[in-house]
Amino acid sequence: MSGFLGKPNSESRVGGNMDLKSMTLAEVTQAVACMGEKPFRARQLYQWLHQKLATDYDEMTNLPKDFRERLKEQYPLTVLTLAERLVSKQDGTEKYLFALPDGNVIESVLMRYRHGNSVCISSQAGCRMGCRFCASTLGGLIRNLLPSEMLEQVYRIQNVTGERVSHLVVMGTGEPLDNYENLLRFLELLTDENGLHISQRNVTVSTCGLVEKIRSLAHEKLQITLALSLHAPTQEKRKKLMPVAYKYELEEVLDACRYYFRQTGRRVTFEYSLVRGVNDTEEDAEQLGGLIKDMNCHVNLIPVNPIAERDYVPSKEGRIAAFKNKLEKNRINVTIRREMGRDIQGACGQLRRSYLSGNNGTQL
Ligand code: SAH
Repeated sequence: MSGFLGKPNSESRVGGNMDLKSMTLAEVTQAVACMGEKPFRARQLYQWLHQKLATDYDEMTNLPKDFRERLKEQYPLTVLTLAERLVSKQDGTEKYLFALPDGNVIESVLMRYRHGNSVCISSQAGCRMGCRFCASTLGGLIRNLLPSEMLEQVYRIQNVTGERVSHLVVMGTGEPLDNYENLLRFLELLTDENGLHISQRNVTVSTCGLVEKIRSLAHEKLQITLALSLHAPTQEKRKKLMPVAYKYELEEVLDACRYYFRQTGRRVTFEYSLVRGVNDTEEDAEQLGGLIKDMNCHVNLIPVNPIAERDYVPSKEGRIAAFKNKLEKNRINVTIRREMGRDIQGACGQLRRSYLSGNNGTQL
């Protein structure tokens, strides 16, 4: 994994100290050496953090007590606190609300599939991309999440459920490529054989389409899946739904996706939220087909999840089926995303938003 950026960015510091849980094993080894301890202590420490998922230095009973005390002082541990857990009665999907050490709240989702447990994490507190149908962006961006804060979402869920997490999607609140260096570090630690060792192939990163960053990610030559939030077949329509389209032409975005495929050999997923009367017509499907039929890709159709602040309505079932059909006629791979956890505010950013406005939904 030499392609990863070596240095954590300056935000990996907590109150002037380095954030130990955001460090690679090599960095932990260095930090431990600076504290005058033997290299094997670094391995033990790293294992407590990333395999045994410890939340407190006192759990690390094979480390000498005085070393633990010094660690507490120099490296306060980044741990998320569970604020709320909602379990869907429909499909076992679970939604988590976590408090960050600074009091901000973020949400994560656990989905149970036949192929394993998948966690959807947030990459930022809030978001500045402004997509019209998305609840996560309504309050703007608060701050980037540290690598450790992204990891912690997975670690806490694994601890609470006692079940192994095998898949991960970065599709929660935030634009992951707007927090690029921390995202890369997170991916490195998540897939590290000395950590949870989740396979890169089981990881998907979703972006609204930051062109330069997609190209940089392609250079990392990771085996992760890139999901591109497309949502419209023309530049004009995309602008109405996604302000980011004012910055990048649709063709530029698609070119970056083609480049990603050439560099990594990984088929790109296009996400397309169907909004009734906005982007779901026969003509839209026809245009979309024309746009991407030369690409090695997959389309994920998602009936839009309505949010209170906007009057977008999901497409009717017949329309969704017709849209899918049209794409398939162009030999494009299509799936309709099974809706999960609607009874627990499944859409991106909804739970956090209702929590912040004092309406906590259905408590477990
Ligand atoms: N910022 C990234 C990842 C977070 S959003 C991105 O834009 O891809 C994850 C996916 O959920 C995106 O495709 C996003 O457009 C979609 N999404 C957000 N709110 C939605 C809603 N209310 N209904 C349907 N899809 C939504």
